[in-house]
Amino acid sequence: MRAITLLYHDVVPSGDWASSGFQGADADEYKMDGEDFRRHLKAIKDRFAGPLTLAPELSSGASAREDVPVLLTFDDGGAGAIYTADMLDEFGWKAHFFVTAGRIDSAGFLTSRQVRELHARGHVIGSHSYTHPLQMARCPAAQLDDEWRRSVACLDDILGEPTLTASVPGGYYSRQVAVSAARAGIKWLFNSEPVTRSHTVEGCLVLGRFGAKRGSPSAWSAAVVAGEGAVRTREYMFWNTKKVAKMILGPVWLRVRVALLERASRAPQSPPGEPGSGRYGNSPGDGPVR
Ligand SMILES: [Zn+2]
Repeated sequence: MRAITLLYHDVVPSGDWASSGFQGADADEYKMDGEDFRRHLKAIKDRFAGPLTLAPELSSGASAREDVPVLLTFDDGGAGAIYTADMLDEFGWKAHFFVTAGRIDSAGFLTSRQVRELHARGHVIGSHSYTHPLQMARCPAAQLDDEWRRSVACLDDILGEPTLTASVPGGYYSRQVAVSAARAGIKWLFNSEPVTRSHTVEGCLVLGRFGAKRGSPSAWSAAVVAGEGAVRTREYMFWNTKKVAKMILGPVWLRVRVALLERASRAPQSPPGEPGSGRYGNSPGDGPVR
């Protein structure tokens, strides 16, 4: 089946990047200012009649339909998720929040109570691993199993029901990542490959996503949701170019990328040596699009 899924991370008020989620220049690259995000939602609403779909509503195995379902997802589980949900309320929309379970109740991240609140407000809570490994696809099988199982057990405990959805940290995906997620009971797994087609691995439906980051124009999100093929093709080509570079350069890719970002962030408003800087798994690992 096909689905159009948008991927966001932290949405924060007044560009206060440090207020939510992982810290550092590489993580901040994926955070979006609240007013920018509201423009995205408005642009999407202008182009898409709705309603939005939640993963459990997807009927796996259904053939391509004319009305391709559209899903909204938010990664990492930063404290800004509540602010994000308030904004979604303005549009009457429900979304998916993928939470780094090991960060719950720590500074800058959702508390257990807030996770329950989001769930009670009708949003889908899913796993985003337990520790947010830098390169998920390179983890040994036992570590993969541990990441998914521990995070699922943690969320099950908080919510009192089985966790069935997940997203891959950094989008660093391999089939083994999906096999392991399926073993942990995940039925819907989102990676960061900008595609609309989905496929099934061991009973788990694997879906791609189109990633927005700081500075992404609202027209881009609207075009993706509206199913403009040219935009999606460009995104796919760009993503694959970066993927190839990452595969060839391997760890060098990560070091170069982090070094460039840290240099760029050494502005007066961003103190050097910021804790956590350069250690955010999302960006380097994800390679491609976030
Ligand atoms: Zn992440």
